[in-house]
Amino acid sequence: MSISQLARANVLALEPYLSARRLGGKGDVWLNANEYPLPPEFTLRPGNLNRYPACQPEGVINHYAAYAGLAPEQVLVSRGADEGIELLIRAFCEPGRDAILFCPPTYGMYSVSAETYNVERRTVQALDDWQLNLPAIAQSLDGVKLVYVCSPNNPTGNLLSADSLKALLELTRGRAMVVADEAYIEFCPAATLAGWLADYPHLVILRTLSKAFALAGLRCGFTLANAEVIQLLLKVIAPYPLSLPVADIAEQALSEAGIALMRRRVAEISDNRRWLADALAACDCVTQVYPSESNYLLARFNPDSQAFKTLWDQGIILRNQSKQPGLAECLRITIGTRRECERVITSLLAIDHSRTDTADQEPQ
Ligand SMILES: *Cc1c(COP(=O)(O)O)cnc(C)c1O
Repeated sequence: MSISQLARANVLALEPYLSARRLGGKGDVWLNANEYPLPPEFTLRPGNLNRYPACQPEGVINHYAAYAGLAPEQVLVSRGADEGIELLIRAFCEPGRDAILFCPPTYGMYSVSAETYNVERRTVQALDDWQLNLPAIAQSLDGVKLVYVCSPNNPTGNLLSADSLKALLELTRGRAMVVADEAYIEFCPAATLAGWLADYPHLVILRTLSKAFALAGLRCGFTLANAEVIQLLLKVIAPYPLSLPVADIAEQALSEAGIALMRRRVAEISDNRRWLADALAACDCVTQVYPSESNYLLARFNPDSQAFKTLWDQGIILRNQSKQPGLAECLRITIGTRRECERVITSLLAIDHSRTDTADQEPQ
């Protein structure tokens, strides 16, 4: 038998997630993966690398629990939030029978993880204001074990309203788990659902050190849930999901000083975001800038502006969202340093000027 006859059919059909480093591009301004623009500094403590690490390093769990205002039994640490997305599917979904539900336009890994496990992907498109379409979700819940929602939503930047999230949790009680992806919650900390875990046994929250904590290269994320759910996930997680150096750096990032540094970064990025939003709104080639509670902005461009390609050729790499439902001509721009934000605007203003020139030259 050939390799392709041996492989699983759903894996053969699978289109893998286009991760930051897989996308290619030759840039010096990387604004396509919602990373922090500058590398944080850490020193590795000497550790016993001859020994296997703990599955759930106590220092990391205790620090994160304190940071999130939860008990250590309500916290699981994994290789990024992406691993949390997958562990939930492994623990809750029967391949070929159960479904997950999510609301495009949204983060791509819910779909990729479900497809990998041959779990049905049911979608209910978000409303025009990108809030949840609750009546449609209510009609689509048969066989659904996990409902993934993302707030602030990637790539649109909006929060889901607290009322709609409560309604979703009531709708799904006793029927399905609700997974709230809070990868960007540090940019709007008051909106966290962590305080709701006591009321909703079927609520799960995903967090990460990749965004506000500036540690995308570390690969460290967290799942917050009630102890019964965490115990289930511990059955299906790898025996050693975090290497010793990862646990060491994560613990430093979650120290009091580390959290203070993160908050300063959030303030600076939010400031740059407000500057960039105003400057984008003043560009002729930009038709709409959407409000954002995160470290990125979604903007819609004039169809003939060629902004993505023009900036790409200049080494400014953005994320094209045009293929997502409802996001024709939309680009997502990660908030970088002020200098990087200025580079984006300089290039867009040059597009505006060349377009005006062309318009002037058109025959009368
Ligand atoms: C970046 C991101 C993740 C993945 O985080 P990692 O911890 O780097 O795996 C999950 N969800 C959303 C919405 C993200 O934007």
